[in-house]
Amino acid sequence: MDKNFIEIEKIFGKNRIRKDEPMNKHTTFRIGGPAQYYIEVEKTDDFVKAVNTSGSLKIPYLILGGGSNILVSDSGVRGLVIKNNCRAFSVMRMSGRIKNNKIDVDSAFLFSESGVIMNQLVRFSIEEGLGGLEYMLGLPGTAGGAVFMNSNFPKKESYVGDSLYSAKILTKTGEVKEVDRSYFKFGYDKSALQKTEEIVLSVIFKLVPGEKKVLWEKATEALEYRTKTQPKGFSAGCVFRNISIVDAIKIPTPDRITSAGYLIDKAGLKGKRVGNAIVSDIHANYILNTGNARASDVLNLIAFIKQEVFKKFGVELSLEIRKIGF
Ligand SMILES: Cc1cc2nc3c(=O)[nH]c(=O)nc-3n(C[C@H](O)[C@H](O)[C@H](O)COP(=O)(O)OP(=O)(O)OC[C@H]3O[C@@H](n4cnc5c(N)ncnc54)[C@H](O)[C@@H]3O)c2cc1C
Repeated sequence: MDKNFIEIEKIFGKNRIRKDEPMNKHTTFRIGGPAQYYIEVEKTDDFVKAVNTSGSLKIPYLILGGGSNILVSDSGVRGLVIKNNCRAFSVMRMSGRIKNNKIDVDSAFLFSESGVIMNQLVRFSIEEGLGGLEYMLGLPGTAGGAVFMNSNFPKKESYVGDSLYSAKILTKTGEVKEVDRSYFKFGYDKSALQKTEEIVLSVIFKLVPGEKKVLWEKATEALEYRTKTQPKGFSAGCVFRNISIVDAIKIPTPDRITSAGYLIDKAGLKGKRVGNAIVSDIHANYILNTGNARASDVLNLIAFIKQEVFKKFGVELSLEIRKIGF
């Protein structure tokens, strides 16, 4: 008899909660053992309720967006995995002046629940003639994951956090509060939530009206760049964060390039394999699961890459992907 399962089922009803759900079905790496309990939520109220339920049962929880930036252990995840399918979004009010009998709009607000698929949101914003998110076309995952990671298109120094105006978050004490952009302390691949472990429920982006044609050109440029530079196959995107400019000067790298992929390539690691995990030939900061790779293969490969890069360049690479359940 599993008391926690029965309790969760009592709260959410029959057939909502799954036991031992394989996480490799829910990650872009296609890696990960079973989630002890797994639930999908479509409404923000249920999302909050699921988090609070794990609090009252004193079991851990994991918020799962698109699963595109995580490595889940082979032994899986203890506690409740909450898959965020809260996917409502809409344009809110416009602000601006009346000029020559026309409204001259200088910004608009886009509301998005945190489970909205980023690609859908980007396409919608462009079709509405709103700029700010266009370089995120081709970014896998959800709005919540993108805010949490401050996902980006470094080529244009464009970050998801740049357009964030405010957000509704759930704190560790179960309180829902509205915060503004400064709260997130956004940096490269960083937001304050990675420390506070608070949860993004919804976001308001402040966008700027632009010509649809121009916005689509920028979005297509980003998408084409991603398609050209990112390998196909099962991965979790870039494994390591890029290095600091200080380290790039110290090494020194040509043109002070900060790319972790450059260092891994120069350490001769393209094509390096551990089990079924392999360093991509196309982009050395990607590890690919070539079929039934284990999380332990990926971890061993990560350790080897860090060791070799440190030996050659004296720089410690840090992980961008988040390890879960280790
Ligand atoms: C092929 C490929 C290409 C990629 N290209 C890029 C790229 O161009 N630029 C880039 O920056 N990244 C890229 N990534 C990485 C990844 O797609 C992004 O970081 C993405 O924004 C993660 O979103 P997600 O919903 O999948 O998050 P998940 O992987 O589900 O979660 C990541 C972390 O965020 C937490 N989280 C998720 N949702 C919430 C929430 N609502 N509140 C609080 N915490 C939350 C999770 O608990 C976890 O710790 C790529 C990945 C892949 C596989």
